[in-house]
Amino acid sequence: VFLSGHGADGFAREHGYEQVENSWFEIAERRRQLDELLAQGRFDDEIKYGTVGAVAVDVDGHVAAATSTGGLTGKRWGRVGDSPLIGAGTYADDRSAAVSATGSGEYFIRAVAAHQLAERIRLGGESLQAALDAVLADIAQLGGKGGLIAVGSDGDAAWGFTTPAMYRGMADASGRTVQVYSEEEER
Ligand code: ASP
Repeated sequence: VFLSGHGADGFAREHGYEQVENSWFEIAERRRQLDELLAQGRFDDEIKYGTVGAVAVDVDGHVAAATSTGGLTGKRWGRVGDSPLIGAGTYADDRSAAVSATGSGEYFIRAVAAHQLAERIRLGGESLQAALDAVLADIAQLGGKGGLIAVGSDGDAAWGFTTPAMYRGMADASGRTVQVYSEEEER
């Protein structure tokens, strides 16, 4: 379910995934953002989040979730965000939903956000959108903000965010939708 470090690298090699040096992930724009933040000498909690997440459901109701992040710019040494923590920023359970999160990871960890969403459906009988909105409200109450995307094993899909915008898209047999700001603003 959850491998890290050398073990995860070994597992990826065993399965034929491409390996790259850490330096491959260093790109000019992210370096510039880090240098700017270091020059300011303070951590900017208004920083834009850059996580990429995906959730999917197949015709048999099997769900999957994936979340990829560089974490937060200027994060402390050894910080672990919510994205790699199963149950916090990423979760999938065929009995409920697949969930991927972006935002202030510390709050998503405290709320065990992705798992909370799935269990609101499985144990609480909530709809996907109601569960998603309740989790974002819970995080807001703790002092955090961000967004969630989710699909239910019944094929339902939902998203929501408490930031000004979240790049997002959805595709199914009937077509595709791509949005950035809230639906009201885009109308
Ligand atoms: N959630 C990520 C983290 O806290 C940041 C992000 O969403 O961009 O590491």
